[in-house]
Amino acid sequence: MNGEAPSVASGYRGRFAPSPTGPLHFGSLLAAVASFADARAHDGVWLLRIEDLDRPREVLGAADAIQRTLRAFGFEWDEPVVFQSARLDAYDAALARLEALGLVYGCGCSRAEIAARARARAGLEGPIYPGTCRDGLPPGRKARSLRLRTATDPIDFEDRIQGRHGHSVAESIGDFVLRRADGLHAYQLAVVVDDAWQGVTHVVRGADLLLSTPRQIGLQRALGLPTPIHAHVPLVLDDQGRKLSKSLAAAPVDGADPLPALRLAWHLLGQESQAAISLHDFWRHAIAGWRIERVPAGLSGSLRPGPGAMLRSPPSPDCAQSPWRDRDHRRRV
Ligand code: GLU
Repeated sequence: MNGEAPSVASGYRGRFAPSPTGPLHFGSLLAAVASFADARAHDGVWLLRIEDLDRPREVLGAADAIQRTLRAFGFEWDEPVVFQSARLDAYDAALARLEALGLVYGCGCSRAEIAARARARAGLEGPIYPGTCRDGLPPGRKARSLRLRTATDPIDFEDRIQGRHGHSVAESIGDFVLRRADGLHAYQLAVVVDDAWQGVTHVVRGADLLLSTPRQIGLQRALGLPTPIHAHVPLVLDDQGRKLSKSLAAAPVDGADPLPALRLAWHLLGQESQAAISLHDFWRHAIAGWRIERVPAGLSGSLRPGPGAMLRSPPSPDCAQSPWRDRDHRRRV
């Protein structure tokens, strides 16, 4: 991007960790912009990790497409891309360590059984696991998944954007899955193992993962791993208030025309507007001007018109309707 080698002197190591379940959409771009700008503004290293553990959900070619799009947007990662599918031994080793600590147990329950159990209480992410197999599998049951024995004490953390957050994992989520019934390692385990292995000091990602953070901190503590500093950027919602990545309107970003989407991301991140006319310019200003304290905790009503309408350059450079040419709009952004 700037042609300058990043300095590692600051000790900052950030990362972007997309799952290859489709092309890069605008919500992910927002997280990537924040993560990259924060890393570079700290003179830090920025890493790319492809979280391709969930093979059934993976879309063929998406990992390559995401990398191509990121490059087209001017992102540069400083070390070879890490693929989680190549790290299964490390996740097994972490599981073995937790098992040796007596923190893992086999569970024979299916999702439907958990949901159907009268005792199952609604938690922060669906029904709280009622602990059916915690003290041993009921007779005749075989272990399907492996779960972590969670503790009741609250796990709080200070988020650089969202402020203080946290909950008791046992009381709000319950004993959660570390290895799924289909044999795949769970995201919560893999992310903790990899963040530590890659020496990640700062996690900047979407607020959809805010509720995962106490689980990850719990795992870090159990495994004796350091906890990175967190910042969760607001989710981009579509016009119906649905999370963009879940909506039909999830607009893949266009690598052939990166500036409009970058400017919109910059605006939604609450940053001072800039009139960059090239990618190089955009990132130069972005890195110099990045202020994480300006990032709003939530985005509400700030997406009119919807992001899809603003992700492309106007058909003609002289188009007076372009939000990027309209000075009043520019003042607002
Ligand atoms: N792979 C996750 C996702 O695409 C992000 C994981 C993380 O940043 O911790 O939603």
